[in-house]
Amino acid sequence: MTQSLSVTILGASGRMGRSLIDATLRNDRLSLAAAVERAGNAAIGVDAGVMVGQAAVGVAVSESMGPAIQQSSVVVDFTAPGATLAALEVCIAHGTPIVIGTTGFTPDQKLQIAEAAKRIPLCIAANYAIGVNVALKLVELAARTMGPDYDVEIVEAHHRHKVDAPSGTALAFGEAAAAGLDRDLLSNAVYGREGQTGARKRETIGFATVRGGDVVGDHTVLFLGDGERLEIAHRATNRANFANGALRAAAWLVGKPAGLYSMRDVLSLND
Ligand code: NAD
Repeated sequence: MTQSLSVTILGASGRMGRSLIDATLRNDRLSLAAAVERAGNAAIGVDAGVMVGQAAVGVAVSESMGPAIQQSSVVVDFTAPGATLAALEVCIAHGTPIVIGTTGFTPDQKLQIAEAAKRIPLCIAANYAIGVNVALKLVELAARTMGPDYDVEIVEAHHRHKVDAPSGTALAFGEAAAAGLDRDLLSNAVYGREGQTGARKRETIGFATVRGGDVVGDHTVLFLGDGERLEIAHRATNRANFANGALRAAAWLVGKPAGLYSMRDVLSLND
């Protein structure tokens, strides 16, 4: 039988934290070592199982990793950049691998993460959904194979509360297409069109954004040619897709040498 991995979850009462706890407790190869929130959070002291609507598991949400870090096989962090950097210190001190889902790091913070990865196994990804990561690979392959005769357009839809556009994932799809076409995304991206735009420039990679309702995240990459069209689409229906991908990364990371890993490594998509 495979040995159970003990997971510490940071940002426990956040949207992702709850989803991660729920997925951990449902997975019989994983156990919950600790559920950590920032000091003063209303969830401190609450049983982590009860917090996510399951039976009590005997792990109360705590305000630090404390001694639980010694029993943790891996730490999973979906918090905020400052909290992630503080957690790195603890993980380095105990040699514990960490999966980072938090986004929004400055270039300097990214350097600190790269430095930490010289000392512990560290996986970081802007999107842990397994389907998205496979789709990124497919888009790069399609762009490379189909070549410059096909126009690339990316359409994304998200819920009405999302404040940035296009989504980070749509941009990642643009990067994947640009990589396949040996093009620079920055100089070829077109973000929305209006008025007398003129005919489409061949090398353009276009983005269109839809906002409304409770859409969790839809992305479609279109390769539009003469007489045919290829669409590579991903639809997220809830946050479990991120949580399951992050936990798959966590299980993969345990036992790896120190290093900076991504979902491409976890899913063997590098070739
Ligand atoms: P959220 O605001 O719902 O949750 C974040 C939680 O972290 C909050 O409960 C907050 O109190 C907690 N926190 C802050 N500082 C902390 C500390 N020092 N110690 C412990 N907990 C602390 O946000 P969310 O939607 O869960 O997203 C969290 C992060 O994950 C964001 O950066 C988001 O962009 C990112 N995210 C990444 C992916 C991915 O696939 N990589 C997917 C979804 C969200």
